[in-house]
Amino acid sequence: MFEKVLTRNFGLPRSESIGVYIANGGYQALPKALHECDPEQLIEMVTASGLRGRGGAGFPAGRKWGFMPKGSDIEKYVCVNTDEGEPGTFKDRELVEKDPHQIIEGVIIASYAVGAHRAFVYIRGEFFLGVKRWIKAIDGAYAKGFLGKNILGSGFSLDLSVHRGAGAYICGEETALIESLEGKRGEPRKKPPYPASVGLWGKPTLVHNVETLANIPHIINRGAEWYSSIGTPKSTGPKIFCISGHVRNRGIFELPLGVPLREIIYEHAGGMTFDKKLKAVIPGGASTPMLTPDQVDTPMAFETLEEAGTMLGTGAIVVMNEDTCMVDVARRLMRFFAHESCGRCTPCRTGTQRMLNILERLEAGQGKAEDIETLERTARKIQGLTFCPMGDAAINPVLSGLKLFRDEYEYHVTHKRCPV
Ligand code: SF4
Repeated sequence: MFEKVLTRNFGLPRSESIGVYIANGGYQALPKALHECDPEQLIEMVTASGLRGRGGAGFPAGRKWGFMPKGSDIEKYVCVNTDEGEPGTFKDRELVEKDPHQIIEGVIIASYAVGAHRAFVYIRGEFFLGVKRWIKAIDGAYAKGFLGKNILGSGFSLDLSVHRGAGAYICGEETALIESLEGKRGEPRKKPPYPASVGLWGKPTLVHNVETLANIPHIINRGAEWYSSIGTPKSTGPKIFCISGHVRNRGIFELPLGVPLREIIYEHAGGMTFDKKLKAVIPGGASTPMLTPDQVDTPMAFETLEEAGTMLGTGAIVVMNEDTCMVDVARRLMRFFAHESCGRCTPCRTGTQRMLNILERLEAGQGKAEDIETLERTARKIQGLTFCPMGDAAINPVLSGLKLFRDEYEYHVTHKRCPV
C-alpha cells in the first residue's frame, strides 16, 4: 500500500489550518533547512531527489534552482503558479484548499535556497475558496513567525502575498504569468532570456507550480534518497493524478509516478461506468495526445508516456468510453483553446478559430469532402510555428484524433452524422 505524502492530511477536519498542519509534522523541514543547510546544500538535495516540475513541462526542479544567479546583492523573486486551468486538471486547487501550509513551507525553503526575499502567489481569479485559503494561510504563517523578518531567528526574511489573475489559461505559462503580475496583459514573452535570468520586473525569478513546491518539505524532512526511491529512476516521487470522464470514481489519487494507467482506471477509479468499453484516454490534460485501450498498461511516468507518443503533462486523466464521439471531443477542446488563445501570434489566433469552425461543421452534419484535409493542414501550419507552446497544445487533440479515429471523421462527412 502506497503511503500518501502530499495528500496525507486531506481527510482531516480543518486540514487547511496551520494547527492541523503543525500537529501532523508540518513546519519541521523549515528549521532544518534554515539552520542546518546552506542554500547550495538545499539545491543539491532537490537535484538529487530527481523532483521534476508538476505543472506540465516536467523540468528538473533542482536545475531550475541552480539557474538562479548567486549573490545576496541581487534582487530575486519566487512566483507560485496557482493558475491551473487546463480542462480535466484540478489537483492544485485541491492542494491549496486542503493543505496550503505544505506549499507555503515549500515556498519559504525554495526562496531561501535561491536567495529571494519576496514571493508572490499567482492564483486563477475563479478560485474563490483557494484565494481565501491562501490569504488565511499566509496570515497564519506570519503570525507564527514562518514569514516576515528574521524567520525562526535565522536572519532570513521573506514576504509572501497573493495576486488574483483574471482567469486566462495562458497565464499558467510562466512568462505570461509574470507579465500579468506586472499589471500587463497576460501574454507570453520570448524565451530566452528565461525567467531565472530576466523575470519579474527584469529580475531573476523562480516560477514553480503548487504541487512541485508541496514536495519540497518532504524532501528536506526525509531525504533525497527516500524521495528518489519512489517512482521510476527518471520520474521520481509521488504524483497527484486527477481522473475524470467515464469512470466510477472521479477525483484525485496520489500514487507513485510510474503506476500503470490500467491500475488508476480499473482499481483506484473503480473501472468504467456501466461496464462500457474503453475507447480512448487523455493521459495528462487536454493538450496531451490520446492513448488507446491497447496502451492502457503504460506506466504513468514522463519517459514511458513519451515513448508511447504522448506526455505526462499535469497528470490529468480523461477517460472516454465506446459511446464517445471523437469529433465532438476535438470540437469541445478546440473551443477551449480558440477561446483561450491570447491572440499574440497569427497561427494560433486564426488557426484555432478556423479549426473550430471546421469541427463545428463536421459535428453539425454539414462537413465538406475537403474538410478533413483542411483540418489536418491547418494543424500542421500551427505545429512548431507559434510563439508559445499553446499552439502545439491546441492541435494535439485534433492530430491525435485524426491519427487514431480518422474513420470517424470520414463518417461525419459521408453520412452527415456521428457513428456513435
Ligand atoms: Fe498567444 Fe497562442 Fe501565440 Fe501562445 S501560441 S502566444 S497563446 S496566440
